[in-house]
Amino acid sequence: MAKKKMILDLDTGVDDALAIAYALAAPEVDLIGIVSAFGNNRRDICAQNSLKLLELLGHPEVPVYNGADHSCTTDHFDPEQVSLDIHGNNGIGEVELPDPQRSVEEESGVDFYIDAAHKYGKDLIIIPTGPMTTLAAALKKDPEIAHLIGNVTFMGGALTVEGNVSPVAEANIHQDPKACNEVLTSDLPLTMVGLDVTLRTLLTKKETAKWRELGTKAGKAYADITDFYIDAYYNLDIDKNGCAIHDPLAVGVGIDPSFVTTLSLFVKCVYEEGPYYARIIGDNAKLNDPNPNVKVAINVDKERYLNVFMDLLTNLFKEH
Ligand code: CA
Repeated sequence: MAKKKMILDLDTGVDDALAIAYALAAPEVDLIGIVSAFGNNRRDICAQNSLKLLELLGHPEVPVYNGADHSCTTDHFDPEQVSLDIHGNNGIGEVELPDPQRSVEEESGVDFYIDAAHKYGKDLIIIPTGPMTTLAAALKKDPEIAHLIGNVTFMGGALTVEGNVSPVAEANIHQDPKACNEVLTSDLPLTMVGLDVTLRTLLTKKETAKWRELGTKAGKAYADITDFYIDAYYNLDIDKNGCAIHDPLAVGVGIDPSFVTTLSLFVKCVYEEGPYYARIIGDNAKLNDPNPNVKVAINVDKERYLNVFMDLLTNLFKEH
């Protein structure tokens, strides 16, 4: 069977770094490019992190494109202190990696999306794990792509649990709720991998110790990067039992939707200022419309997922 083509749209912090490793290790997909978002850090730092990690993992051929560097409703972006506390000032747990050989592509992330949608159609899977500003801009420039792309599986939102920025808002969505709403209310086939499921998949130092024991550069770097995040989760009292591996779960579900159980809904994202800012919620106006375009993940087979996650990443780190 032909491999599916995957594009990651990342604000490369720690869990995005794990998402890159998952996508490179998964035999079912070809990672054809990474679009760089702002979010955990500035877009350009996130792009450099992606390039460094691709080279660390032996895949310098994967191109990185510039996405939006601020939300569609602002003209500037500065990272939040809490993002730096969780992901480190450099986004990857203060781990220093060599400067990348390769540069960011000249072509924009928007045009890369549009070209890839026309080229690969239903074989294309897009995994945004940061704000969806670039994807919304691509839909605006070429609305036809909503009918071409196979699936968009995004990490973001919280439907059945509380948010992590406000009681109703999750961080990725909170960065640009207007862009999110444009994506959600397009005709794109979407899967939402939100806090409902990602908070259930926890990684601990027991797992990262296995990577360090491999004695490889990638194994050590990934153990250090992830341990910083586990410590931040502990010290900031987010979770004392381990760190949530948000972004790689979206990659896993994009490849194998059977990792999660979903609820099919038409949803929207509230982008007006107020207590419900950045909340993703079912769209009352479409409750009786057929064929909802969004599958919201509400539970996850965490043991099976974590086993696959560990097997894939450990085998990849063994080689590099
Ligand atoms: Ca992310």
